[in-house]
Amino acid sequence: MRNKIYYDVIIVGGGPAGSTAAYQLNKLGYDVLLLDKKEFPRPKLCGGLITQKTLNILLDIFDFKLSDLKSQGIIDYVAESYQIYYKDKLITTNNLENEFNLVKRIQYDNYLFNLAKQSGVKVIDGIKVIGINFASNTVKTEKGKEYTSRFIIGADGVNSIVRKQMIDKINTKQIQHIKKGEALAIETLVPRNKISRNIDSPIIYFGIINYGYGWIFPKSDSLTIGLGGLQNKNENFIDIFNDFLKLLNLQDYKINKKGWYIPFGNFLKAPIYKNTFLIGDAANLADPLTGEGIYYAHKSAQIATEVIDKKEKVSINHVEEYKKRINNEIILNLNRAKFYRNLLWGTPDILQRLLIRVSSKYFHKKITMMIQE
Ligand SMILES: Cc1cc2nc3c(=O)[nH]c(=O)nc-3n(C[C@H](O)[C@H](O)[C@H](O)COP(=O)(O)OP(=O)(O)OC[C@H]3O[C@@H](n4cnc5c(N)ncnc54)[C@H](O)[C@@H]3O)c2cc1C
Repeated sequence: MRNKIYYDVIIVGGGPAGSTAAYQLNKLGYDVLLLDKKEFPRPKLCGGLITQKTLNILLDIFDFKLSDLKSQGIIDYVAESYQIYYKDKLITTNNLENEFNLVKRIQYDNYLFNLAKQSGVKVIDGIKVIGINFASNTVKTEKGKEYTSRFIIGADGVNSIVRKQMIDKINTKQIQHIKKGEALAIETLVPRNKISRNIDSPIIYFGIINYGYGWIFPKSDSLTIGLGGLQNKNENFIDIFNDFLKLLNLQDYKINKKGWYIPFGNFLKAPIYKNTFLIGDAANLADPLTGEGIYYAHKSAQIATEVIDKKEKVSINHVEEYKKRINNEIILNLNRAKFYRNLLWGTPDILQRLLIRVSSKYFHKKITMMIQE
């Protein structure tokens, strides 16, 4: 049987942003096509730390309970405290009121992708999108197949082809702005038995990279060790990562490291053009202080879904509505984080150390509340 080529909505990218939008739109009665260039389950470089606000929005959107996520192993590890180091000096250990949950992205993304599929979304994985025709709402794929819809959602991550083609149409100067504001992150997965320390809570390391930080995030059988920082404030990321491994006494362990980008304060003025919406990393929506992006992937998917539904039910200016909601419900908060980031990392080392010491010891409740909620 030939594949159908007309849909209400086509979503490019089946990460947390794309699967959420697909699931929600299908639930609202739309005929949805979800395309991803990779075959699922597929790995995704990520620390996998999900905050309380991420859990809240997940439980709001999807029809599962927290106990389902735990019993099916989607939540792989739960941490009740965290530690902060400045270089090799422990500054503080803080207990958390709301625990941090840690996931392995290969499982988390596959779970959400399959929920969308099982709910009735037409899913095609292993198919790369290479172009968008914004006038006819047509999506072109590498295999020569074309699909058309009333709306398109670009959920294709930090190197989004949908965003690139959209910006080419609107304002080519924004491309430089996007590259300048990206962070590069490097990560590796170390089996627990390779490290002599018993690590049962997330650890953050300041003072090891400019405009960024290092981390050890525990998983049930392994530790995700990584660091990330603004690209235009750092030079040789591999050297910085090797120095970090030395600090952790892991220099002799043969490590397979990988790097990927995080949007880091380079927001778009308008993540929408005609009937094409951008969500998640494709819309550059990650926190410029912590690098948290999973929550913003779900949140922007929810906003795009609601704007599409409103546009279909009552005639609204969906472009203005989407810009307004993304700005009010996401970017205002992220701009606040960017202000603190520039304040913290823009200060000289000695003052930075003092600021981290004072704020993590005396304001940790307020800070963790800000991150969690
Ligand atoms: C090293 C690292 C650590 C991180 N740690 C955390 C963390 O601990 N907590 C947190 O909240 N955030 C973290 N982030 C950020 C988080 O990973 C992202 O913000 C999140 O994955 C964004 O989700 P998304 O659905 O928008 O994009 P993605 O998860 O990147 O999904 C995009 C999808 O689009 C598909 N795609 C791409 N191009 C095409 C194409 N041309 N055609 C079809 N499909 C395409 C890809 O295959 C992919 O499946 C981290 C990021 C990095 C790099």
